[in-house]
Amino acid sequence: MDTPRLVSLDREHLIHPVSSWQGHEASGATILETGKGVWLTDSKGHHLLDGFSGLWCVNTGYGCESVIEAGRRQLEKLPYATGYFGFSNEPAIELAARLTQHAPGHLNHIYFALGGSDAVDSTLRFIRYYQHARGTPEKRHVIGLQKGYHGSSFVGAGLTALPAFHRDADVPLPWQHHIPSPDPYRHPAGPDAEAIIQASVQALHNEIVKIGGPQHVAAFYCELVQGSGGVIIPPKGWATAMQAACRELDILFVVDEVITGFGRTGPLFACAHENIEPDMMTVAKGLTAGYAPMGGVFMSDTIYETIRDKTPSGVSVGHGQTYSAHPVSAAIGLAVLDLYEGGLLENGTRVGEHLALRLRGLDNHPLVGTTRSVGMLAGIELVTDKANKTKPDAQLGVSRKLSRYGYEQGILFRAFGDDVIGLAPPLCSTIAEMDQLCDGIVSVLDRVMEDPAVASALKA
Ligand code: PLP
Repeated sequence: MDTPRLVSLDREHLIHPVSSWQGHEASGATILETGKGVWLTDSKGHHLLDGFSGLWCVNTGYGCESVIEAGRRQLEKLPYATGYFGFSNEPAIELAARLTQHAPGHLNHIYFALGGSDAVDSTLRFIRYYQHARGTPEKRHVIGLQKGYHGSSFVGAGLTALPAFHRDADVPLPWQHHIPSPDPYRHPAGPDAEAIIQASVQALHNEIVKIGGPQHVAAFYCELVQGSGGVIIPPKGWATAMQAACRELDILFVVDEVITGFGRTGPLFACAHENIEPDMMTVAKGLTAGYAPMGGVFMSDTIYETIRDKTPSGVSVGHGQTYSAHPVSAAIGLAVLDLYEGGLLENGTRVGEHLALRLRGLDNHPLVGTTRSVGMLAGIELVTDKANKTKPDAQLGVSRKLSRYGYEQGILFRAFGDDVIGLAPPLCSTIAEMDQLCDGIVSVLDRVMEDPAVASALKA
């Protein structure tokens, strides 16, 4: 591989997702070349232990023969099949049937989208159809959480509540609203779980009053662990309370499991932790473990049947894409599901317990404010003053240092701003690999701490 040529062409022609365009041109990209298990190798031959499963998606690890073979067989047999005009395809049907069996509550229908953003976008469209069908079209406002991430389609970016997605983007739209994140570390009512839960329920009620009453509100959206907001784990009981509040207010409860789905937090879906039964649920990422693009929208019987019954016979529900229910992605999804069912979830849970143990050992590190994890999803929150929970000043460049030292150490994780390290290792990781990742993180944190500017900002 001619790395200098590729880096130069990449600079000139390839626009990267959610990136600083100036930064990309200045530093160039690292070109990933091969992957096996939890290991990636870049074009310079540098090995990296992938502690983030690519972008929280390669839950199975790289190079799984059964998944590759399933994709290859489907490509040979039938690389494409439209779902329009009354056509369907075998892998998509089988995947829909198996997934809806696993799904919580009455989510007996699934629409296969192109990825997570498209799945979220699809929920917003289906919800409009539903509200029209049930004769409540004025229920058009939606409420999400601050620090929530729901993708980067135009409307999804508005439902998202992270500054980078709103800046110069003319979102949120006037019908999109946000209430505070149930962040146990930083919530003004925290860390008491009950106080945070009550504050969230109250905030939902208050927001609805501001909007003009529940007759104007269609849905509340949440992640069960806020991923891109910094791996924020709401207190136990929070999701149950929010679901109950939504039911009482006649507002749809939509759960975005794009990250938390497919074993990331232990069970196949994070809803299982509290027996949550959402009205709609989005998935992507672990659905195909990143081997092919695909997302999904699970829909309750009530929503499905209402739209079906109120749409006149012969009239189309006008939502769909060329690549909906793509047979190759679906075949890959089936092979990946076999792995989850064949012991991968149990391995993730077992290794996740070890990860939690190792993270607890980091709590005393001078740069660490708190650590948190559920299954194979974890966050390490960095502070320069533990007592006042002071985030590292942007001038210290902690985020850049973390990424650089991590690369040099041969480990991959994600730095959210300057204050959170996110971890989402493949579910196939071994205990030894988890130790290697955690040992690497300690070395990286020690190096950051030794930086003279960071050292002088640190308060004991
Ligand atoms: N929803 C959540 C919770 C996500 O974390 C993401 C992506 O990280 C998305 C939606 C968007 O998914 P995609 O990047 O596949 O469009």
